Amino acid sequence: MASRLEHTTANNDKKPIEDSKPTKADGLLHHLYYGQDKISYEVIRKDKARKLRIKVHPDQRVVVSVPMQVTDEFIHQSVQKRVRWIWQHLQDFAKQKTDVLPKRYVSGEPQFYLGRRYVLKVIVDPEQAANVKLIRGKLTVTLTHDDSNASDGSDRAAKVKALLDAWYQAKARMVFAERLAAVLPQANWVHNSPTFKILSMKKQWGSCSAQGNLVLNPHLVKAPKECIDYVILHELCHIKEHNHSERFWRLLTLVMPHWKAVKTELDSMAEFYLNE
Ligand SMILES: [Zn+2]
Repeated sequence: MASRLEHTTANNDKKPIEDSKPTKADGLLHHLYYGQDKISYEVIRKDKARKLRIKVHPDQRVVVSVPMQVTDEFIHQSVQKRVRWIWQHLQDFAKQKTDVLPKRYVSGEPQFYLGRRYVLKVIVDPEQAANVKLIRGKLTVTLTHDDSNASDGSDRAAKVKALLDAWYQAKARMVFAERLAAVLPQANWVHNSPTFKILSMKKQWGSCSAQGNLVLNPHLVKAPKECIDYVILHELCHIKEHNHSERFWRLLTLVMPHWKAVKTELDSMAEFYLNE
């Protein structure tokens, strides 16, 4: 079954929003209990927020974003109402943390694609050509024959990994081209359509040459589209600003005002996406 890595809930109760001055507690941690477990949450007040939203991040931060004028009391009650839901997602993410193990490329392991978590399924079917398919929440790898006892060292795991690598490469090529085309109009300082190369890297999501050619990590296709957009926009900003100067960050903020939150999300999952 596919489960979203990004968990968001919205307050759909049509409760009147109480009018009061913003409190000084913004950005500080608030707490409540679920049974014996203490749950801390951060409150972010936003001018543009229209309703209360609770988000549980993969790094186990609980962030509540609210319109400017709601009271702490209302926030506390809303969080209290969803405390079981929050606790459950904290449990899930805590479990995932302990799940970063070396991959064995066997059925049941998690695989990520566009921010969703899928379960790997490896099957052997002599009637089919070897292939990889995304079917009903499962990333299914079909092998033509069982290589578990192969004498030439090309064991089953290596074969599954090679098929998955090729699948991710092909998806990366397609998705990155689509996202680059989608965000390019925002980078109005880029006049020639940039090319990109796909290169598996251990510590980087992307880079940009002096000539304006991008290099993108195929593992990035495991992240949500918004994270892919962030990396592409970051690299496009380097076409104008070659280093991480203040001007660079200002330019990035102009084209993606909430880039920090997106980057935090990507960073929190890097371990999983880069694990192979
Ligand atoms: Zn950079």
